[in-house]
Amino acid sequence: MKDYQHILLAVDFSEHGDYVAEKARSLAYRYQSKFSIIHVLDNIPMPDTNYGKVIALNHDSGYELLEIEKFKLKQLGDYLGVAIDQQCLVWGVPKQEIVNYANEQQADLIVLGSHGRHGIALLLGSTANAVLHHALCDVMAVRLPTP
Ligand code: AMP
Repeated sequence: MKDYQHILLAVDFSEHGDYVAEKARSLAYRYQSKFSIIHVLDNIPMPDTNYGKVIALNHDSGYELLEIEKFKLKQLGDYLGVAIDQQCLVWGVPKQEIVNYANEQQADLIVLGSHGRHGIALLLGSTANAVLHHALCDVMAVRLPTP
């Protein structure tokens, strides 16, 4: 089997996210692959300004809710050893943006949780299910305990 070259971790900062992140990190280490992380902003209102969909992490937006999300992503990305230019924060629909980014970046493995904020009661959450169906690369859904 060919080693994975580029692993993309999708994070929603829900419970058990650290467990998913550690799995992705350990795979990236094992395969010595490029390692990226994405968080899709679907839970805070988009400000009425000229923001593009993709958020630059390295300058202050002056928008408090966005700065909190940026801080969380940067903190996790730095902890996992993900290069800053491989930390992606983007507004949109999680399932679409995760698949688009994976395609653009030519990731060959997407790692996500079996469920998160949108699938608490489900075996497989709606984002996980859609990414599994639409991704062009392999997808690892890390099984998380249901409450
Ligand atoms: P869900 O299917 O929405 O319950 O979430 C399943 C998994 O998809 C989560 O554990 C995350 O790994 C990923 N995910 C869900 N929402 C997002 C998001 N907004 N940004 C990035 N990844 C997400």
